[in-house]
Amino acid sequence: VTTQAAVAGRWTTRIRRAEALAVVRPEAEALLRFFVVLAEWQHQVAEALDAVLPRPTEPAGGPLPPDHYPVLRLTDVDPALLSGHADGFRSVLRQGPPATADLGRILHDGPARYDRLVQEYLFGDLTRFAEDLGLPLPLATFAGQVVCQPLLELLSGRAAALVDPGSWYEAPCPCCGGPPVCSYLRGLGEPTGQRLLVCARCLFEWPFPRLRCPNCAEEQDGGFSPVLADQYRAVRVDVCTRCRSYLKTADARQDGRVVAIVDDIASIALDLWAESQGLHRLAPALVR
Ligand SMILES: [Zn+2]
Ligand SMILES: [Zn+2]
Repeated sequence: VTTQAAVAGRWTTRIRRAEALAVVRPEAEALLRFFVVLAEWQHQVAEALDAVLPRPTEPAGGPLPPDHYPVLRLTDVDPALLSGHADGFRSVLRQGPPATADLGRILHDGPARYDRLVQEYLFGDLTRFAEDLGLPLPLATFAGQVVCQPLLELLSGRAAALVDPGSWYEAPCPCCGGPPVCSYLRGLGEPTGQRLLVCARCLFEWPFPRLRCPNCAEEQDGGFSPVLADQYRAVRVDVCTRCRSYLKTADARQDGRVVAIVDDIASIALDLWAESQGLHRLAPALVR
């Protein structure tokens, strides 16, 4: 399998899942349709970047020990790799809800604002950037995430061989240090299966203990436990009674079609419920 085929396959799977869920989840249809527009653009960016980035190589010394994680240094990432995609991003934002259309106008009103977004997201101060431009921080985070995700996913994929998944059971991403956006249980047809966290920044996936809170590491009996909703058989809300955070978990043991980050968007109703309970997420879904 060539890298290009693998990259294309991942985006195609996400897009197809979003299109399928948009039909059966009317409450999330607008979000899912916008995700498809974003993901189609991210797919193009990823293919263009994959062609210019160095080929992945096996590290001569094998995986690094955990004290070297995250293995990817964002300060080493060249933000100029994304410069050529500014116009494409603006046309994508125009197809979104009014807030993102405004975002597109603000980002392209002044020269170099898009380039600054990339730099601030990767290794600067996104809060200051949002303040300077009068943007709500979640909107600036969304923009940085959409633009940088294809590059970071490719770089994490190339750095993944440096990570030993058997020696890392912490919440920050071992590749890029980002927070988990959601998780899923894999092992189709298995009663227990394995939990994997998904990185909000680079989409890397790594194993994590099923009954531990990724925010505060609570692991007492029942301290971190799932809440199930009848209408979402494939997604549950894992709630921590100690730190009041929650993590949505897609259950690929029951349904092999789930794609954690897409099923996360489709189950926005569960986030509204969690917020009404005073619970908070570690990182927002890509669109909401
Ligand atoms: Zn990451
Ligand atoms: Zn907790």
